[in-house]
Amino acid sequence: MRLYEHEGKAFFAKHKIPLSAGKVVTTAEDAVRAAREIGFPVVIKAQVLTGGRGKAGGVKIAKSEAEAKEHAAKILALVIKDYPVEKLLIEPALQIEREIYLGVTIDRANYKLVLIGCAEGGVEIEETAKSAPEKIIKIAFEIDEPCYPYHGVELAQRMGLSGEDLKAVSDIAVRLFGLFKKLDAKVAEINPLARTKDGKWIAADARIALDDDALFRHPEFEEMGIGPRHEVGELTPREKQAQEWGIPYVDLDGDIGMFPGGAGFGIVGNDFIHHYGGKPANFMDSGGGPSPERIAKMLVLLDDNPQVKVIFGARFGGISRCDDFAKGVVQFLREHGLSKPMVVRMTGNKWEEGLRIFDAAKKETPEIFARLEFHGIETPIEEISKRAVELAKQATTGK
Ligand code: GDP
Ligand code: MN
Repeated sequence: MRLYEHEGKAFFAKHKIPLSAGKVVTTAEDAVRAAREIGFPVVIKAQVLTGGRGKAGGVKIAKSEAEAKEHAAKILALVIKDYPVEKLLIEPALQIEREIYLGVTIDRANYKLVLIGCAEGGVEIEETAKSAPEKIIKIAFEIDEPCYPYHGVELAQRMGLSGEDLKAVSDIAVRLFGLFKKLDAKVAEINPLARTKDGKWIAADARIALDDDALFRHPEFEEMGIGPRHEVGELTPREKQAQEWGIPYVDLDGDIGMFPGGAGFGIVGNDFIHHYGGKPANFMDSGGGPSPERIAKMLVLLDDNPQVKVIFGARFGGISRCDDFAKGVVQFLREHGLSKPMVVRMTGNKWEEGLRIFDAAKKETPEIFARLEFHGIETPIEEISKRAVELAKQATTGK
């Protein structure tokens, strides 16, 4: 879960990371009022759940009420990377003399936490990371290893800082690391950490992403008004739909709709499809013991996806029963209808019962079964996988 800048800054304040206090508003009129109270010049900043606001025109300095009104109205009309701007943060404008970058994140490849600094911060940080990666200074930590003041000093020194700058920046780096751990964050960044004309270091931006799986440990977030939010851009419309239905689902770029039992079998199925030269259009998990309704919804996600040429169903009944699985498939065939070929195999718990349900329904309404091939334990998973890949190829070549 990503936080707005002003929410991130509320945590900065708690952790004594220096910042300038601002006000959040939702209209140009309120922006002017806030600016008047704060005193000019002010900086007016779009509050959206993405970076790159500066480059998109979402950060502007206003020296007068007229300017504040004009900038605020313009920024509120922006859509930045799919995020319509609905809130503004008004702060006293800093007189920035220098911008650096500080961040903490997880190095998943090495199972470490990493404190990052770059002496050249600001809106071009991504460019610097690409063109001069040696300028990005990193210190790795074991998951349970504290960040001590000397780590902060090491970082600041390697960034080329000295004297008062070193003192201030190293202290902020250690605080940022502490905040990252305290919040169970995935990312905590200050970019830029700005040195003002009077030599102070101030966090001019805050970018924090929290770990959704750790939110239950933080009842205080809800109390701070940090609740669930709509992060667009992260999920495709289908992934969003799946999320609303409570189905773990990820879009991939192939054409075989994966309709597995659990996540484990989903991964195995994925490997089989790749092995036989096919490409999955998705990854999905049914969860343990899915109801027929849920099974039907999983199929709707695949059938409605124009990228899917064939649906590959592999159910290994364990906790989940194949008869419930078959009931869900039949419910889908009756209510929604199958618009593309589908191959299904069932083994494990109640698979014979599952096949009986299919047989009975097929006798009753053969037409809805026209595109469905179903198999039991007698057909190996290899055969089913090959068949799915073959059907997908036929669908793309037209024969
Ligand atoms: P981002 O582009 O979404 O990361 O938004 P930032 O909050 O980092 O703002 C982008 C840029 O605007 C910063 O790198 C600064 O150069 C500039 N900026 C932000 N706040 C101020 C401020 O108070 N005064 C001045 N002069 N510039 C600012
Ligand atoms: Mn920034």
